Amino acid sequence: MRRTLVAGNWKMNASRAQTETLLSGIRDAGDLPCDVAVFPPYPYLSQAVEAAGATVSVGAQNCADQTSGAYTGEVACDMLSDIGASMVIIGHSERRTLYGETDDVVLRKTRLAIDCGLTAVVCVGETLEQRKSGNAEAVVKTQLSLLLSELSDTDWQSVVIAYEPVWAIGTGETATPEQAQAVHAHIRALLAARNESLAASTRLLYGGSVKAANAAELFSQQDIDGGHVGGASLDVAEFLGICRA
Ligand code: PEP
Repeated sequence: MRRTLVAGNWKMNASRAQTETLLSGIRDAGDLPCDVAVFPPYPYLSQAVEAAGATVSVGAQNCADQTSGAYTGEVACDMLSDIGASMVIIGHSERRTLYGETDDVVLRKTRLAIDCGLTAVVCVGETLEQRKSGNAEAVVKTQLSLLLSELSDTDWQSVVIAYEPVWAIGTGETATPEQAQAVHAHIRALLAARNESLAASTRLLYGGSVKAANAAELFSQQDIDGGHVGGASLDVAEFLGICRA
């Protein structure tokens, strides 16, 4: 029922030439056994939409929490849909930590994204300190609670959750499959408490130093429906290795 999704978050990397190389590499790989999405920086989104073809989804790494107006430097969700993007990452830990994005902002952005026909990939995850103090599941529950109480069942059809332990992002340190599965199972139980069919249909991705070498074991866990990939998405061979896992 849930098709595996591999999402490549390029962060503030790439150029016109790299965008072309990465997307032609993915295109040339032909049929892949999963859904694939890439999230280039804003300036390359239109180019990526053109280059991606029908099989690869293109999304933004962030969006405004307003619809239009005097918000210098911001990009609205309907602008993203207008140029053919179909997804947006919301609440990445770098945005929460570096730009002060709160759960309230995450909810507002998610609502706007859904209203504009985008799929929202909402990121949650605990810091190392929170994990060490035994609070990983409680942190994730808090990060999801507004979404669970405020979004409708129909809204949830346009939401993907990415569980990304902060200590595993860009560090080379990956959660063990058991650690990742335990939090994914917890997230699915939170969804089930609200609605069983929501739990059955919502895709939950794992993110945090996913590579071709560790993807198969992570993706084989019962509640892990794919990966949210940072660094390894900038290398075509590595990214395709993850997609094939
Ligand atoms: C990310 O940016 O969401 C991420 C998981 O990065 P990395 O794969 O580099 O850890």
